[in-house]
Amino acid sequence: MRTTSVKAYGTPAAEAPLNMLDIRRRTTTPHDVEIDILYCGVCHSDLHTARNEWHFTVYPCVPGHEIVGRIVRVGDHVTKFKVGDVVGVGCLVDSCRECQYCREGLEQFCEPGPTQTYNSPDKYLDTPTFGGYSESVVVDENYVLRIPENLDLAATAPLLCAGITTYSPLRHWNIGPGKKVGIVGIGGLGHMGIKIAKAMGAHVVAFTTSASKFAEAQRLGADEVVLSKDEEQMAAYRGKLHFILDAVSAEHDINAYLNLLRVDGSLALVGAPEHPLPVAAFSVIMGRKSFSGSMIGGIAETQEMLDFCGAHNITADIEMINIQQINEAYERLLKGDVKYRFVIDMNSLKNAS
Ligand code: NAP
Ligand code: ZN
Ligand code: ZN
Repeated sequence: MRTTSVKAYGTPAAEAPLNMLDIRRRTTTPHDVEIDILYCGVCHSDLHTARNEWHFTVYPCVPGHEIVGRIVRVGDHVTKFKVGDVVGVGCLVDSCRECQYCREGLEQFCEPGPTQTYNSPDKYLDTPTFGGYSESVVVDENYVLRIPENLDLAATAPLLCAGITTYSPLRHWNIGPGKKVGIVGIGGLGHMGIKIAKAMGAHVVAFTTSASKFAEAQRLGADEVVLSKDEEQMAAYRGKLHFILDAVSAEHDINAYLNLLRVDGSLALVGAPEHPLPVAAFSVIMGRKSFSGSMIGGIAETQEMLDFCGAHNITADIEMINIQQINEAYERLLKGDVKYRFVIDMNSLKNAS
């Protein structure tokens, strides 16, 4: 397999900071497109993975799965895209395409395992897959998304993970008018959850630990905001919510939120903290409640989400950074100090020596 050398930012070990390194990308095969990366969002999963908090990172690790870029080369058999198209790549770059879940458009649950954009075995090369903190990426056209023309490109990048990860469960649990929905943890995912649930017609209640996000959550579209550390404020919502989307990145008391569900209500976890979250039996027995989870979304649903965001003019609230600021950005992410998604301007990598 022919390869080319590409500049990237990644880490050789869990304890090491991210630094510039060279990676290999395959040259385009007949169904591939080569994408010059313009912007890449910074997801908390990038940090969990770079630091091996989920205990399955293979090094070197180049994170990044919220990619927006421009196609600079297409393989001979590519039919969906042409050179010059602005496109997106999310968390998946391939899957088996044959199992029951791939056939149903649930590639994220592919039985042999999907090829994730980073830290998966590469189907072509003897390395893990490398993500979007890089100059360019080569992806099979079937895993590439179209970007609605009216959306700002940098602010669209976070839709590729934070957008689909919140859209998919909101759709699955039939969120719409008449539903009271709680969104817990107003970070990259949570702030998208507020915007999307509101656009779906739900009554949205945001739960935050940060007093500084209290007023802003309303600007993002929340009908009500609750400071989750305040027990009195929490008690006012007991038994009131149809559905809760929990997007918290660290350990927290899940029972406090299960208590806020109505009978037959569901809480879906999308946040993926390093350590288990204890669930008290009575939190779910009382009220026949469901505690569940959701992971990103399939390719067709990701396109559906992008088209929905295009129609509703929804993008992320972002803070643009240069790649050289990535380690500092991770520290700020840990403190909840970003409103609400860092996006890397990839020119900063292309111009670096
Ligand atoms: P993020 O921007 O860091 O947001 C996480 C938010 O959680 C923070 O802004 C904060 O919100 C809240 N939080 C943080 N520490 C907390 C603590 N100790 N106690 C209570 N609340 C706390 O992260 P993100 O990128 O949105 O990702 C969130 C989680 O989802 C991560 O674990 C990530 O790996 C996971 N994820 C899962 C999927 C999936 O497919 N399931 C996809 C992407 C990401 P407040 O300030 O409002 O309290
Ligand atoms: Zn992500
Ligand atoms: Zn499959």
